[in-house]
Amino acid sequence: MKIGFIGLGNMGGPMAANLAKAGHQVTGFDMADVAIDGVSMVASGAEAAAGAEVVITMLPNGQILRAVADQVIPVMAAGAALVDCSTVDVDSARAVAGQAAEKGLLFVDAPVSGGVGGAAGGTLTFMAGGSAEAFAKADPLFEVMGQKAVHCGEAGAGQSAKICNNMILGVTMVATCEAFALADKLGLDRQKMFDVVSTSSGYSWTMNAYCPAPGVGPQSPADNGYQPGFAAELMLKDLRLSQQAAESADADTPMGQLAQALYAQFVEDEDGQGMDFSAMLPRFEKRSRS
Ligand code: NAD
Repeated sequence: MKIGFIGLGNMGGPMAANLAKAGHQVTGFDMADVAIDGVSMVASGAEAAAGAEVVITMLPNGQILRAVADQVIPVMAAGAALVDCSTVDVDSARAVAGQAAEKGLLFVDAPVSGGVGGAAGGTLTFMAGGSAEAFAKADPLFEVMGQKAVHCGEAGAGQSAKICNNMILGVTMVATCEAFALADKLGLDRQKMFDVVSTSSGYSWTMNAYCPAPGVGPQSPADNGYQPGFAAELMLKDLRLSQQAAESADADTPMGQLAQALYAQFVEDEDGQGMDFSAMLPRFEKRSRS
């Protein structure tokens, strides 16, 4: 398939490389000067999109997605599909979907879970929103770049699923870290805490698979000085998207709101910038109740 790929950063680079390795003809564009195995780089997004059956974007945010969509939609042929894999706000996903539909194009919002390891290994999970026809067109490419693709509903449903998942993740990480800090102050051994919680009703992905306490549970960023992993600022971005969506949908999300405020404080006023999002634990360790 002839594919245009725009945004070849930490995630987009290896995703594009996997498509090229699978035999697709991939033309790429990035603002930065990057070289990706098997991908022919061109000088603009419009050039990458012209003549492509599918254009994939993997960009930092919704504002940039909207700007790129303005450049590529006019040059895409009717029936081609625009597949946005970035994590962006639901409103931007729906706006670009509308713009694509006006031009007779298919659109899928397909944010991913799995991080840079999943992008490199072709094991991402895609959560997709769009028509059945649009999903069917993109699905063979999801199979190359990932291990699972869930068609969640109409345009915007993929982003909705992603930010709800990551709101749970952020809230759960905060809860796991504050519980470890409380356990410390109660004199409870961390290994015992893990042994109990990971097999009791407090278990979660953040405790069992990504334990924020160094030396406890499976290997995680906590065992590597809290190098990301999944950076605290990316968690803050996703929590902000969840609260923006909650605001526009009039949903009451007090735990998400509190998690957003904690990550904002951690990243913007404390030392969380550049740390893994599980570094909330050393943050709580330093604090007292009053
Ligand atoms: P990144 O910053 O490494 O890559 C983004 C790329 O987009 C950069 O190479 C940048 O030069 C390029 N870019 C920016 N503006 C552009 C424009 N106008 N035209 C063309 N290229 C442009 O970020 P990333 O880690 O690859 O993340 C990409 C998206 O994936 C984000 O929305 C992020 O939230 C999401 N995501 C990231 C992870 C992760 O673990 N890194 C996991 C899941 C989802």
